[in-house]
Amino acid sequence: LHYDEAPSVDSVPGPKSRELIRRQENIDSSAVAYPEDIPIAFDSGKGATVRDVDGNTFIDMFAGIGVLNVGHSNPYVLEAVHEQADKFVHTVDFPTEARLELIEKLDEIAPEGLRGNMRTVFGGPTGSDAVEAAIKLSKYNTDGTGLVAFRGAYHGATSGAMSVTSNKKFKEAYTPLLPDVVHAPYPHPFRDGKSPQESVDHALEEVQQILEDPYGGLANPAGIIVEPIQGEGGVVTPPEGFLKGVRDIATDNDVPLVFDEIQCGLGRTGEWWASEWDGVTPDIMTTAKALGGVGFPLSATMYHEDLDTWGSGDHAGTYRGHVVGMRAGTRAIEYIQEHDLLAHARELGEYLRDRLREAGESNPQLAEVRGRGLFVGAEFVDADGNPDGDVADAIQDYCFEHGVLVWKAGRHGNVLRLLPPLVLTHDLAETAMDVIVDAVEQTTTATATR
Ligand code: PMP
Repeated sequence: LHYDEAPSVDSVPGPKSRELIRRQENIDSSAVAYPEDIPIAFDSGKGATVRDVDGNTFIDMFAGIGVLNVGHSNPYVLEAVHEQADKFVHTVDFPTEARLELIEKLDEIAPEGLRGNMRTVFGGPTGSDAVEAAIKLSKYNTDGTGLVAFRGAYHGATSGAMSVTSNKKFKEAYTPLLPDVVHAPYPHPFRDGKSPQESVDHALEEVQQILEDPYGGLANPAGIIVEPIQGEGGVVTPPEGFLKGVRDIATDNDVPLVFDEIQCGLGRTGEWWASEWDGVTPDIMTTAKALGGVGFPLSATMYHEDLDTWGSGDHAGTYRGHVVGMRAGTRAIEYIQEHDLLAHARELGEYLRDRLREAGESNPQLAEVRGRGLFVGAEFVDADGNPDGDVADAIQDYCFEHGVLVWKAGRHGNVLRLLPPLVLTHDLAETAMDVIVDAVEQTTTATATR
């Protein structure tokens, strides 16, 4: 499944990568984010390993932001992809076997409260599309206009999804967006300087206040949207009681609760859905990223059939589901089931966290390790103990030079985020962690002596 010799890095970036990036830089507005920090031009991938155009081989610890759960070019999935592509590729949203098969598969793995009681809508290829559909469904069901979202949230790049995203950097040039969005605090005990319980209580009080305060709150709420674990926000894993509390508030106020499982769902945390760790079921749930199996752009919005349901044509879009992507998605879910990758993700995730915690024992700059399954975050502080350092940036660069791909997250880029393919083996994980732990050691020493 994987390249044998990972990592093997000659010198990076190599000449071919440099040339490809140079030619692309001035004509492609979308290819800058990763190469800006890490100049790499990808050529091929196998399982949890990738190669660049210069032949350097890396262990991939970010998997296209949690897209390649079954690994790069998984042969079991690709078999179905080839078969489907040879047969039939596109039809807007007319019935196909591939479509029904995926919907039934999603129903089979849905959280308990939705399983057997849900409808699925395909709004478009991206996560942002799924969020837009979730927002529209919330409004359709309530006649409301306002939405409660959370600080630190990332929900996408289209106007509605940007409105519920909190980071100003993504949206300040594009206002006005949706008018009635209020962001409540997301419990983050480490940042809040509070106990887990206090952080949860504070967040829930604010949500309550937003919904109920007749003066400063939302006059006409349509719903609450929340990531069960915040991804871009820094793998922020809320303490027990938060999701349950939000569920209760949504029910009491008769507004739909939306869980955005785009980054944390589909097996990433060692459960099919991150919210299952808390045993809480939303009314509406978004999924994307890993849904397209081996990287096909595909997203879906699942919702409880007790809501006012959409019928055919109520939510338009040329790409309401990609037939080949759907086939890939179903096969990828099957692959995870057949290889018991949920249990593997739980076990291997603990190993990754243990290695990071061990490294943090003697290193005050590695302040907190968190996450669930193979969704792992490590938050760093600068040499003076301030939370806004650039350690994760430096770790990212060091790892790149040593054959391991990681991608930072967090408000200031100070969270190291690991979200490798679920097919990562223990051996590759050990090799990657050796490099990452070295990187932590080297880069924190560097920032401490600056
Ligand atoms: N929601 C969450 C939680 C995400 O992490 C992302 C992407 N990082 C999105 C929505 C948006 O997905 P896309 O980039 O596919 O539009």
